[in-house]
Amino acid sequence: MATELDIDSTRHRLANACIAIVDAKDRLTKADQAIGDGDHGVGMARGFSAAQAKLDEKTAETVGDLFKTVGMAIMSTSGGASGAVFGTFFMQAASPLDIATLDAPRFISALQSGLAAVEKRGGAKAGDKTMIDALVPAIEHAKQAPSEEILACLSAAATGAAEGVEATVNMKAATGKARSLGDRSIGHPDPGAISVAIMLAALADDGGAD
Ligand code: ADP
Ligand code: MG
Repeated sequence: MATELDIDSTRHRLANACIAIVDAKDRLTKADQAIGDGDHGVGMARGFSAAQAKLDEKTAETVGDLFKTVGMAIMSTSGGASGAVFGTFFMQAASPLDIATLDAPRFISALQSGLAAVEKRGGAKAGDKTMIDALVPAIEHAKQAPSEEILACLSAAATGAAEGVEATVNMKAATGKARSLGDRSIGHPDPGAISVAIMLAALADDGGAD
């Protein structure tokens, strides 16, 4: 297993994450229909499809450039709360990544940096039933990955995010559109948390060669 990913491998994995979100459009639509206004799938698919196209076009000197490219594309095309939230996440995840390879400690720093920016921008916190509730356990699991290998770290993050999605089912929404549902938001997973889990699972997926 590799201890780090170079720019091409990182680009390839980020592009796979974009494709996975586009492919999950209907699932995300259904999730947002249950506790929101139903636009999450369409908005995310639009943003991540634009991001995939930009990843193809743009040159990158650092892995951070790739995350910035994804963030800017999402920010300018997704719309809705998730455009701001996921755009901010990727743009700020880029800040510790002014390097030509992605290793486990830097990836954890990137997740932490993205999370802090989302919390600052949107004012939500852990337990409010948002994508934050997938990111927090993703970071915790990544820190406890059994090795320093980047792929072990990515796969631990994906496992943590999936557990986070399950945990959102029993949460009552305290922010965003789902908040107005009160107790009726309980029993459904958070759409944005599902998106984080899909993204991280695709990043960790070793189906495509690096
Ligand atoms: P909108 O709420 O504008 O319809 P989307 O449906 O695309 O936007 O996205 C909803 C998702 O965005 C939620 O499931 C939640 O995970 C995330 N979200 C909403 N507000 C916030 C916030 N303040 N902080 C973090 N995530 C948020
Ligand atoms: Mg919505």
